Parts: sequence; structure tokens; C-alpha cells
Amino acid sequence: MKTLVGFGDADSFYASAEVVRRPWLRGLAVGVLGNQGACVIARNYPMKRHGVKVGEPIWEAKKKCPTGVYVKRDFRWYETLSRKMLAEAGLFSQKIEYYSIDEFFWEGSATRGRTFRQTAEDIREHVKLSTGLPMTVAFARTRTLAKLFADTAKPYGAVAVEDADHETEILAKLPVTEIAGIARGSAAKLEPHGIKTCLDLRQASGLLVRRLLTVTGHDIWRELNGYRVTPIRTTRTPHKMLSRGGSLAGRVKDAYTLYGWLVRNVERLIEELQFHEVRPSTLTVAVSYFDADSATGVANLCVPSARFDVLLDAAKRGLRRAWRPGRVATHMHLIASGLKRGPWQQSLFDPADPKRDAVARAKRTINDLLGRWKLRSGATLFANDWYDDPANEHEVCDVRGKFCF
Ligand SMILES: [Mg+2]
Repeated sequence: MKTLVGFGDADSFYASAEVVRRPWLRGLAVGVLGNQGACVIARNYPMKRHGVKVGEPIWEAKKKCPTGVYVKRDFRWYETLSRKMLAEAGLFSQKIEYYSIDEFFWEGSATRGRTFRQTAEDIREHVKLSTGLPMTVAFARTRTLAKLFADTAKPYGAVAVEDADHETEILAKLPVTEIAGIARGSAAKLEPHGIKTCLDLRQASGLLVRRLLTVTGHDIWRELNGYRVTPIRTTRTPHKMLSRGGSLAGRVKDAYTLYGWLVRNVERLIEELQFHEVRPSTLTVAVSYFDADSATGVANLCVPSARFDVLLDAAKRGLRRAWRPGRVATHMHLIASGLKRGPWQQSLFDPADPKRDAVARAKRTINDLLGRWKLRSGATLFANDWYDDPANEHEVCDVRGKFCF
């Protein structure tokens, strides 16, 4: 039986999710706010038409769209709907991949008596009926093609592009930057060779593409030509690294506050390490600055560990290298790599410390019982407002099992 790659992508997902639980928002311009309610992180089509952009501060957005409704993000709710979409779309295939919070790839055939195009429509209608969410669905020969065609069919599209001629027709109209994974820098490398559209890229020599864009670009080229490079992955492959961090909720110049964010990120990272039952060998602290280039600091651990004091020690070393005194920091990421899976043996260099182990256990037990962050380091007291706001309790990176951010 002929199979194609299916791809489903919810339209304006966060804003649509808000409409699902507040039906009175239907038809209105809706913007979702992140980052302490300061910036628009998502908006629906009516708000898009007013020219509001993602990342825009709310005061600018309100000037452009004064009648808009602005709501705070709620990733618990978005995750609930995301998993429901995955389950409902999954009824149409035995092999479905949880790619991102609102994007799914699957391997699928046309339903009996229906064409692929009609099957795409059926899936779209079913997801809408069962979840209330509008989704664009595309079928194509590969993942890259399916995603490209879905992007051109938004919003609420249902397409199936089955043969090379039909592909050619669409690819000729799309600039290479439409492909996820081809940024402007890559496009600039391709342009001197006359490669501007997706079709140009597909028809280019594979050798040339590999030379210009390395293996990653070559894989995209193969996918454009109809070879399925990345299979559908029904379970998350083990992480090569885990990271926590993000915006510092404003601009941070003071070293103590920066340290407080570091501690928060260590605590968040530990949750993740414990969940996946891994211990890192290396920690990297990356800091972005408003008025200077971003900087990173790498610290190796003597022995892989997921214990608070050991990780904080390493993270401090990392931060010391990434810190630019007097400069204004805006973002911080803490990245754990060289992840080791158990069983762990006690080593000569392992700083065994029954007391600290007991404290770590107690902290975990209390938080498991009473809620996340009920017991946390005093260094994070500076951010009480942040912790008190339920919108910050669950973030998109806390949605587990998906492949992409
Ligand atoms: Mg989407």
C-alpha cells in the first residue's frame, strides 16, 4: 500500500488554545503574552492582520490593535491540548512522531475509498471536532516536503502532493529560506551559485550542496528529492544534552541577581536529569548580553553527578567565565552534556556526602508532594514574583517527549 509522510501543524496554536477554553474569544484578535506579560509570543490571524508581530512589547501591540484581547501563556493547558491532538491525529496512523508542541509527523496511507487529499481533509476535520483546534495537514513524499507544503497551505489547509511534477510547480515559487534548517546565512552561500528557490536547490548537484551546507544541507537536498532521510520516530530518542534557561525577565546587571538565575536553572536542570536518570560530565553556561557579545563558560565535573552542590559548583565556574562585569545580561542557558546513564559506581573522586544526599532527597520529596518549587534555594528569593505567577510554573521545555523545542 502506498504510504506518504503526513504532517499536521496547529494554526496559531497558543491563541487557538485560548479560544478553545474561552469560546467568547472566537472571531476576536487574540494575543498570547509571555515573559511576565510584556511581550506577544503568539497571535491569531485577526491580530496578525493588524500588523502585530511575535516578540513585540504589549504597549506597541496595543497601539496597533487596541481592540485585541491579550492573555498570559499557560503551558499546562497547551500541553493538555497538544497531547489530545497527538492522540486524535494518531488514530489515522500507527506511526506518529511528537515533533513539537503543535507539530506531528506520521507515516500514512489514504483511508480506504478516499484519496490522500481527502484523507488530509478528514484528519483536519477530525482534529477540529475532537479538540476544537484548527490544524493544517499535508501529505508528501518526505518530511521536509510535507512541512513545506503545509506552510504554504496555512491556515486550515489540507493538501497532498504526490508526484514530482506537482512538487516542481510549488517548489519553484518558494525561496530556499522557507525550508526549516536553511537560515539566511546558508541562503547567502547558495545564492552565488544561482540557487534561490527550493526547486533550484533540489536540482543542484548534491556534491555542491554538501560542500556549501555540510551534511545537514545535503540531507535537506535528499529530502527535497524524495528520499526519506529521517524516519518517523514514535518515541523520543535519548537526549544528547539537556538544557534549561531562557529569558532573565528583564535586564540584569547585578551579579547577585545573575547568580540567582543560575541557581534557578540548576534546580530546573536537576529535575530534568532526575527524570531522565542521567548525570552530566560537563556543564556549559551561556549568557546573552544586551550591550555586548554573548559569552559561554564550560566546566567539567570530576565525576558525573546530578547533586545540587556539585552542579552548582561547576555552574559557578561556568558563570565566572561567561560573566561580563558591568554588562547587561538578557538570557541565560545552562547546558548539561556528556550525559551518563546508570548504574553508577562509587568512585575515588566521588564527593560522597550523606548529609547533602539526604537534603536533596528531602527537597525532592517535598516538591513532589506539595508542588514544584515549594522548597527552593534562598538564592532565588529575588524572583518571588516570578515564582508566584502560575504562568511561569510550566514552560514549553517542560513538555516532555517531543523532539523539537
Ligand atoms: Mg503551528
